[in-house]
Amino acid sequence: MKQFLYEAQPCRTVFGEGTRRNIRKEVERLNLKNVLVISTSGLSGSTTAEHVAVLLRDLCKGIFSKAVQHVPIENVYEALDFVKSNNIDGLVAVGGGSPIGLAKAVALETELPIVALPTTYAGSEMTSVWGITENGVKRTGTNSIVKPKTVIYDPELTLSIPANLSVTSGVNSVAHCVEALYSESRNPITSLLAEEGIRSIARSLRRIVENPDDLEARSKAFYGAWLGGTVLGSVGMALHHKLCHTLGGTFKLPHAETHTVLISYVISYNSDYAPEAMEVIARSLQCNKDDVASTLYDLIQSLGGPVSLESIGFQREDIEKAAELAVKNPYYNPRPIDKGSIRDLLDRAYHGIRPE
Ligand code: NAD
Repeated sequence: MKQFLYEAQPCRTVFGEGTRRNIRKEVERLNLKNVLVISTSGLSGSTTAEHVAVLLRDLCKGIFSKAVQHVPIENVYEALDFVKSNNIDGLVAVGGGSPIGLAKAVALETELPIVALPTTYAGSEMTSVWGITENGVKRTGTNSIVKPKTVIYDPELTLSIPANLSVTSGVNSVAHCVEALYSESRNPITSLLAEEGIRSIARSLRRIVENPDDLEARSKAFYGAWLGGTVLGSVGMALHHKLCHTLGGTFKLPHAETHTVLISYVISYNSDYAPEAMEVIARSLQCNKDDVASTLYDLIQSLGGPVSLESIGFQREDIEKAAELAVKNPYYNPRPIDKGSIRDLLDRAYHGIRPE
C-alpha cells in the first residue's frame, strides 16, 4: 500500500434538519457570552442574521450583515472596530463562503472562536484557509485559528438557494472532491469522503432542480458539501483550484460558476494521468471511467449550469494572460502543466466545447 499521512482536524459538526435551533446551546458550550453574528445582505427567512440573533437571545451583542465576496479589508476593519468596542468574545457566521470568510479574517486578527451556520455548498467552514482583499489583491493563507470550532449544517437553511446557485455551488463542492482524489497528499480517509461526496451531490442536484423544496435531497447535497469541505480542508488541491483562483482573483469571475465551467475540462486534461481517481469518480457518477469529463459536463448542462467561460463573462483576449498566470508558480498536478496546454484548455472552456 502507498505511504500516506492523515491528520484529523478537530471540528464539532452538528448535522440535521432544524439543528440551527441548537445555536445557543453550541455557543454556550464554548463559554461565549457576547457574540457578533456575521452575515450577508440578500438572505431571507431563517438564513438571516436576524433569525439567528433571535435564537441566540441575550448572547448576541450585534449583527454585521455587510460581508461580500473576497473579503475586502475595509469590511474587516469595520467588523474589527465593532468587536473591539463591544467586548465580543465569539463570532457566529451565517451564510455562504463570504460571511464565513469575513469571520475568518476577524478571527485571524483576534483569535476569536467561530461557530458557522453555512447556507451554501462552498465548504469554507471546514477549512483553515483565509483570504483578504486589499487594493485589488487577494492575500490568502492557512491558520488553524480561523477554522470554525463548531459547524451546524441545517439543511432547512439551504431550501432558499435558487436552482442555479444550487447547481453551481454543488458542483463547486464536487470539484473539491475530484481534486482530493488525485491530490498529492491524498490518503485513504479523504478518498473515501471524496467518493461519497461526489455521489451524494451528483445524485441530489437533479431532485433539487426539479423540486427545490425536497428536503431529503437538500440534506443529501449538504451532507456531500460537508464531505467536500472536509477534503478541501485536509489535502492539497491542484490545477482546477489554481485556475479558479486565477480567474476569480485577476478577472473577477464569479466563484461557484467558474468552478462549474472548468471542472469537466480539468478532469479531461488530467484523466490519463489519474486513472485511479477516474475510476472512483466514474463509480460515483455511475459512468464509464473514460467518460467522466463528458458525463459531468452533460449533467451540468442538463441542470442549467454554465459550461462556457464566455457565458460567465470571461473575455477571449484574456486567455493568454490567464494561462501565463496559471503556470507562474509551480504546483502539484497529476499531469505536467505548460502554458500551451493550459491555453488550449481555457480556449475549449471559453467556447464550452464538450470534453471527450
Ligand atoms: P457567497 O457566500 O458569496 O454567496 C453567494 C450568494 O448566495 C450571495 O448573494 C448570498 O446572499 C446568496 N446565498 C447564500 N446562501 C443562500 C441561501 N441559503 N439562500 C439564498 N441565497 C443564498 O458565495 P459562496 O459560493 O458560498 O462562497 C464563495 C466565497 O467563498 C468566495 O469568496 C470563495 O473564495 C470563498 N471560499 C473560501 C473557501 C476557503 O476555504 N477559504 C472555500 C470555499 C469558498
